[in-house]
Amino acid sequence: MKRKNVVIVGSGFAGSFAAYLLSKNFDVLIIDKNPKSVERKCLRLLTSSFFSINPIFRTESFNRKVIVNKIPKALIVSKHNNVQLNLESPEIVINPKKLRHILLSKAMKNGAKFLKANFSNFSYKNKRLIIALNGKKTLSADFLIDASGAESIISRKLGNKIEVKNAIQAEIMTDKKMQKSLWTAYIDISSKDLVWLFPYKNHLTVSYTSTIPKSKELLSQKFKMILKMLGTKKIFKIEQEKIPIWNKSIIYGQNNVFLLGDSAAQVKATTYGGIVPLFRAAKILESVISKNKNAEEYAKRLSGLSNELKMHALISRALSKISDDDVDFLLELIKKNKKLIGARDELSKNINFFWLLPNLLNLRFLSLLFKAIRA
Ligand SMILES: Cc1cc2nc3c(=O)[nH]c(=O)nc-3n(C[C@H](O)[C@H](O)[C@H](O)COP(=O)(O)OP(=O)(O)OC[C@H]3O[C@@H](n4cnc5c(N)ncnc54)[C@H](O)[C@@H]3O)c2cc1C
Repeated sequence: MKRKNVVIVGSGFAGSFAAYLLSKNFDVLIIDKNPKSVERKCLRLLTSSFFSINPIFRTESFNRKVIVNKIPKALIVSKHNNVQLNLESPEIVINPKKLRHILLSKAMKNGAKFLKANFSNFSYKNKRLIIALNGKKTLSADFLIDASGAESIISRKLGNKIEVKNAIQAEIMTDKKMQKSLWTAYIDISSKDLVWLFPYKNHLTVSYTSTIPKSKELLSQKFKMILKMLGTKKIFKIEQEKIPIWNKSIIYGQNNVFLLGDSAAQVKATTYGGIVPLFRAAKILESVISKNKNAEEYAKRLSGLSNELKMHALISRALSKISDDDVDFLLELIKKNKKLIGARDELSKNINFFWLLPNLLNLRFLSLLFKAIRA
């Protein structure tokens, strides 16, 4: 029997994992206009639930090639306070180039094809999908997966209005002794900044995100401060990228056209982690397409992940309504009982409601909660 064909636009983590999963039973064509672009953009820190997504992630040879470091501790720093936490399970630092390479080469081994081309539009002819490349060449397909990232043409065409934030990522050489077993997050509410710092091989990676646009001067001032704090002047790589912010109105596709990854804003609004969510979504998508179902079924089956992303969006909105002093105070409460969150994935399961209960007797905590709920 002739196999059905799937065209995947984008060969980032979303496109390459979907290609790996689907190439076993479908003819897969991956299209990318600039395949090298994706290797730059990932901070590389993943939560440990990554391992449970697919058996391939648990094999010894995969781990040897892809996992660079395991980090069991976190330090959260506010304006005048800080708290160190032991993570429920160590978080992992990956080599993003190797991860993507393994997924793509496995997909190719299964028969997937790769085409360097620019997707421009899709339409239907006699109910069959017609895909236009570079404005001229066309292809036909049974299914189309849009994994083309935060600036997806298809996502906009389907009516999505997705806010994007700027993230700057820098790799910094420092002679300062660094702990290989700790990541650090600096929360600066008044500047709307989050600085994330973790060891990658022999240097530090710094990711900087701000929820408000900043002038070039302000950004360079900020980075000078970060460098001073780290006791170094050496930045050897710096990039600016877009992070899409999930909202509850996201449309995940239409008929046999599906959005995956950043094009569907499948990113946690608190930490901007996108890889675990998009891998989870890709698994769901593979099962939807394998059963010959449509985008409506995909959206239905994504409801668990959507609820998770909604929780992150709520927390992020609440954080935007409180002050630096409030965060200092919250860290003080966390110091008293460090088990507020068991693990950063599946927040709805992992938030420790027994932590919340005694704090409900604290007036300042109560007023903060109300402030956040009203956000
Ligand atoms: C600075 C930064 C740090 C991050 N850190 C982390 C982290 O530590 N942990 C984590 O989990 N997540 C992190 N994320 C988020 C994560 O990197 C993204 O969610 C994830 O990489 C998105 O993958 P994707 O495959 O959906 O899209 P992308 O990686 O953007 O891939 C899209 C691909 O589509 C191609 N494409 C686009 N348009 C077209 C077109 N018209 N025709 C053909 N091809 C096209 C592009 O060339 C590109 O190759 C970070 C993001 C940023 C910006």
